[in-house]
Amino acid sequence: MSTPQPLATLSPEDLAGFLAERRAAYAALQAKGLSLDLTRGKPSTAQLDLSNGLLHLPTTTTDRSGADVRNYGGLEGLAELREIFAELLWVDPEQVICGGNSSLSLMHQVMTFLMLWGGPGSERPWRDEPTVKFICPVPGYDRHFTMLADFGIEMLSVPMNDDGPDVTAVKALVADDPAVKGMWIVPTYANPSGSVCSEQVAAELMSMPTAAPDFRIMWDNAYAFHHLTEDEAKSADALSLASAAGNPNRPLMFASTSKITFAGSGVSVLAQSSENKAWYLKHLSLASIGPDKVNHLRHVEFFGSPDGVRAHMRKHREIIAPKFAAVNAALTAELAGLDIARWSQPTGGYFVNLDVMDGTASRVVALAKEAGIALTPAGSAFPHNLDPNDRNIRLAPSFPPLAEVETAMAGVATCVALAAAEKLSQ
Ligand code: PLP
Repeated sequence: MSTPQPLATLSPEDLAGFLAERRAAYAALQAKGLSLDLTRGKPSTAQLDLSNGLLHLPTTTTDRSGADVRNYGGLEGLAELREIFAELLWVDPEQVICGGNSSLSLMHQVMTFLMLWGGPGSERPWRDEPTVKFICPVPGYDRHFTMLADFGIEMLSVPMNDDGPDVTAVKALVADDPAVKGMWIVPTYANPSGSVCSEQVAAELMSMPTAAPDFRIMWDNAYAFHHLTEDEAKSADALSLASAAGNPNRPLMFASTSKITFAGSGVSVLAQSSENKAWYLKHLSLASIGPDKVNHLRHVEFFGSPDGVRAHMRKHREIIAPKFAAVNAALTAELAGLDIARWSQPTGGYFVNLDVMDGTASRVVALAKEAGIALTPAGSAFPHNLDPNDRNIRLAPSFPPLAEVETAMAGVATCVALAAAEKLSQ
């Protein structure tokens, strides 16, 4: 086979030949009758099995203070669990609260409290503002955006770069408009781009002047410990940076063990300033008499220490890193040199970000579907599901077995090439 050249530079005859070949490859793909799914950003069964030890814990009914974990109380969560996550997230245990199984619920709760009552520094509840706007780095996590849409919050997109959100764009949006109340960021191994927010970008976000006195950064560190290589990224120390810049209440840091132990039965973490914490606990105390401390103790016994978490994450890496390698290998084999797609090679997290030729993402997803390969709908990583370039596709290789990832990705690559050839032939 000749060396691939950019598809757009092929002569009309060569392009017609390429298109015919890809149509034949696609017909062969359809004939396989596949039923594969690359939509689910969730741990595989083998990963869940790593934590089966939890099912036999805890071995006792009291925490280290002697409190009976089976009973009410302890709104902040078990101190020993908070210490483990404080060290892992480079924050002070006093800043940490541990909650139920979902950090997304904590985010929703924080947003609800802000809307209903405002937070420290607010002039009024956010619901009483004429408009509330949030900055959304794109591509981003679809549930962040759908949550905002549900609250009636206006979304302002900024590009997500390799070192975090485009700070210049963010600064321009927050400087003069007090309606811009906050932003999302997934700082480490972002969903879906895989980018890691640099210390420099984090420092700028935490220190930039904002027209809103109660500007909040929802620092969703869902993938803080989810390294795919030995080069383990360290998340920027958002709380200290904000505090040093005189904006201690700006960041709210979230994490969970959803992709560490059991996605449905893990523990969540919220780290924040002392003022934010008092505010949050005040409202929480009207909603709950205490978290599931039995599960907290179970996790403490299971991990033992922050190093226990780190060692556990290396076992996850052994299972999922080959799947990410398979995604890269399949895309490279079919698409390298054609100049019709770019994809991330993340060093952590759960996703590969695939950018195909402009105007073809929806077509790729439709072609894949017709061939029995489910992909996340095109545009999902953008507010209101609108990718202005129809270019972005989120791939989630963690859940299917490796052989299925290989088969599915070879098929996806065929669809990407076919959609690009069709587009160029129009
Ligand atoms: N935040 C991000 C960026 C995610 O990708 C996910 C799940 O995919 C979550 C939060 C959900 O977290 P949890 O399971 O703790 O609610």
